[in-house]
Amino acid sequence: MIDIPFDPKFSDNMDRTHSHGNYPCAVCGCNAPRAKAWVHVHGGGDVIVTEEESEQLNNSEEVRADMGMWPIGEDCRKKHPELESYLQIKPTIKAGEWKALFFDLYREISGKELADETLCMQEAYHRLATLKANGIIKEG
Ligand SMILES: [Zn+2]
Repeated sequence: MIDIPFDPKFSDNMDRTHSHGNYPCAVCGCNAPRAKAWVHVHGGGDVIVTEEESEQLNNSEEVRADMGMWPIGEDCRKKHPELESYLQIKPTIKAGEWKALFFDLYREISGKELADETLCMQEAYHRLATLKANGIIKEG
């Protein structure tokens, strides 16, 4: 377990990079939409823990203090090597692989018999278009 080495400009960075409502970098507050490194934040937002530590804390009725996974931007990752052993690196997927991931999820939810890949992809594109039309996600 390690205290988050907060940037003193955390709130300013959130305002400046419009990261409100997103998951900003846990250290500096900057928007970090493509972060590869993530950490498990606990203690109501004060500490970074390993998955093992998180499980121990959650078993001792600290579940409400579990803040889940937050990204660490590349700059902060370089500035804070002490966090390295807490980082969980998100695998990068190639364009096209998201379809397999999405269909997998769809199959899990709707049941293997009902899952039709064409309908599933139509639905995915429809949702994507809605999100883009509302400016919730940008191209990518
Ligand atoms: Zn940062």
